[in-house]
Amino acid sequence: MKIICVGRNYTDHVKELGNNIPDEPVIFMKPKSALLQSHTPFYYPEFTNELHYECEIVLRVSKNGKYIQEKHASNYYDAITVGIDFTARDIQDELKKKGLPWEKAKAFDNSAVVGKFIPLTPDFNRKSINFSLLKNEEKVQEANSSQMIFSIDRIIENISNYFSLNIGDLIFTGTPAGVGECVTGDVLEGFIEKQSLFSVEIK
Ligand code: MG
Repeated sequence: MKIICVGRNYTDHVKELGNNIPDEPVIFMKPKSALLQSHTPFYYPEFTNELHYECEIVLRVSKNGKYIQEKHASNYYDAITVGIDFTARDIQDELKKKGLPWEKAKAFDNSAVVGKFIPLTPDFNRKSINFSLLKNEEKVQEANSSQMIFSIDRIIENISNYFSLNIGDLIFTGTPAGVGECVTGDVLEGFIEKQSLFSVEIK
């Protein structure tokens, strides 16, 4: 199982970090060890002084595939949720300056929080998904999937040109504006529409 993540996929977020709008999806990965197991606490990593939350829609791959065309992409995932792509922003800024890979900032243990999955029924509107993140009960991120620069189906097409997709893989589809710092004691709660799908306390 692998975790594939898209970066810079919402215009407002690209701007808030001072990056350029990409002309094809920005892709990175997290290993299996990055997945925070349920009922496991999240501890603030000792190597960073600037831990950021990034709330994102997460897809669960349900079919093996390679070179998947956009028009067939919706057959390759069967459930969605929201999650957090935890990021050590200070480390990432250093790595970006040096032109180095992002893994130390993005792929560390427990850096991928994944909520409870919602199975996709035929009447579920995959093109317009509202999601949000509360930090200590205050809304800090809110967006609709239609605001993605690269839609879910285009992401699947692009990823599968490079990496085979396998059943059980997870795809993080990028974060909207509003990313920010979190500290010990903060509680992060993620929603699709009004449904709470995860709650994580930083220990
Ligand atoms: Mg992200």
